[in-house]
Amino acid sequence: MANIEVTSPWDGSRVGEVPATDPRTVPVVAERLRAEQPAWARTPATDRAAWVSRLRDQVLADVDSFVETLSRETGKPQAEARVEVLFATEAMRHLAARSPRYLAQRPVRSLTTALGVERATVTPAPYPLVGVISPWNFPFGLAVVDAVPALLAGASVLMKPSDLTPLSATGLVAAWRAIGAPDVLDVVVGDAPTGVAVVDTVDFVAFTGSTGTGRAVGRRAAERLVPVSLELGGNDAMIVLADANLDHAANAAVFGAMCNGGQMCVSTERVYVEDSVHDRFVDLVRDRLRDLGQRDITPLASAAQLEVVRRQVVDAERKGAKVERWHDLSSSGTWFPPTLVLDATDDMDCVREETFGPVMPVLRVGSADEAVERANLSPYGLSATVWTTDPFRAQDVADRLEVGAVNVNCVFSNLFFFDAPQQGWKSSGLGARFGGAHAVRRYCRDRVVLHSRHRLRAEPHWLPYSSRTNRLLGTALGVLRHGAVRRLRRRGSVRT
Ligand code: NAD
Repeated sequence: MANIEVTSPWDGSRVGEVPATDPRTVPVVAERLRAEQPAWARTPATDRAAWVSRLRDQVLADVDSFVETLSRETGKPQAEARVEVLFATEAMRHLAARSPRYLAQRPVRSLTTALGVERATVTPAPYPLVGVISPWNFPFGLAVVDAVPALLAGASVLMKPSDLTPLSATGLVAAWRAIGAPDVLDVVVGDAPTGVAVVDTVDFVAFTGSTGTGRAVGRRAAERLVPVSLELGGNDAMIVLADANLDHAANAAVFGAMCNGGQMCVSTERVYVEDSVHDRFVDLVRDRLRDLGQRDITPLASAAQLEVVRRQVVDAERKGAKVERWHDLSSSGTWFPPTLVLDATDDMDCVREETFGPVMPVLRVGSADEAVERANLSPYGLSATVWTTDPFRAQDVADRLEVGAVNVNCVFSNLFFFDAPQQGWKSSGLGARFGGAHAVRRYCRDRVVLHSRHRLRAEPHWLPYSSRTNRLLGTALGVLRHGAVRRLRRRGSVRT
């Protein structure tokens, strides 16, 4: 197959090239990875963690090149590429340190003693081959946070990055090979048919991408009864209450909406501001936006993406919004200027849909209750932010938002809080990433081993059934019945 040429979204210049994988060869790669997996799973968890620590060191030793590749293939500013690499290497450190404990065999206790179980243990056993399918907006960070815990669990991993940005995941595999680690990590490069081939081959699918594709992946995996985790789109609301520190909130809104050119599942997508502070908040936001340079804003990933965002802004203007933007549209590439949409309403596409662009619709609300109600109109439920100096009000608002994470007076913080689950509600996902032991155990099936304390030749309830069996069982149930009737009488609910 032909090579895939990776181009810069800034000007279409060539960034690199990787061999495209013929989807028909995906099972061949998978077979090789499967063959290595049993030995990898038998490797002690502490040794697997040591390999991941070595991988982290390898990445850090070559950090400038990882940052450069990431920045060039996505167009994101170097500062944002650095944060992504930092995020990924911190996740590696955290997961490597904790995974042996997460994977330890654990005892189970039960109140049911009838079967005479003396001891029971649960041992997590990895799925042999995990497929990690990821999008173009965080091609290094998202590959790492899904692939590394699977490796730590003892699975082999086959990554399928977006064909727009395959270089970072390819670099991760090269780093894994450079440290001489076992052949349990590989990458296949291509678009949807390659992704489909991965879903058709692996034993667990960790998918990150759009809700539409996530549904297709979920349906296809269901046919094979293969488990999936789906990290999908978002339409995150920011709620600014009248008592908020407006300066802080305005800075956060600009960062939340404009970071990575707004191409984040957790971007600040709709800002609901209490009426009494609306105009002051908008002035502060305007000041910050004016300060942004063109190179602070990541261009959109593709011409198709640019068209979607343009259409959303035109729709808002047509429906009466006042649109303000800084910088003209650039003459080349897919750059879109930071855009403020004032007097936004719930029926506008940029409010209803996920907007993958540097666009900030601001909506005026009369109260916190109204903000919650309107924020919950979205079919998405990824995360939200709440801005207030009253922690009790913040908790009350957070408790009513239909989302998997609420950041109070901060933005994106939950992403770096690896002990907490990252879980999209509603159309934002299925399953969760991170969340303590779940980060690694989600890639395992539980095997329960029960040890019986019976020393008899045969237990009383086994075949063949005799009148003695019936008598014994009848006596046992009779004793239980007696206790139950006594308790019910005491409560006055039996009138015998
Ligand atoms: P996408 O759904 O188009 O593609 C994601 C990946 O799936 C790509 O690698 C793609 O090649 C592959 N793919 C496409 N069709 C497939 C199919 N039928 N079967 C299997 N794989 C297939 O998403 P995108 O446009 O690359 O990324 C943007 C989306 O990702 C946004 O909706 C964003 O919100 C979401 N996202 C979510 C999270 C999260 O953690 N919740 C994080 C980042 C991005």
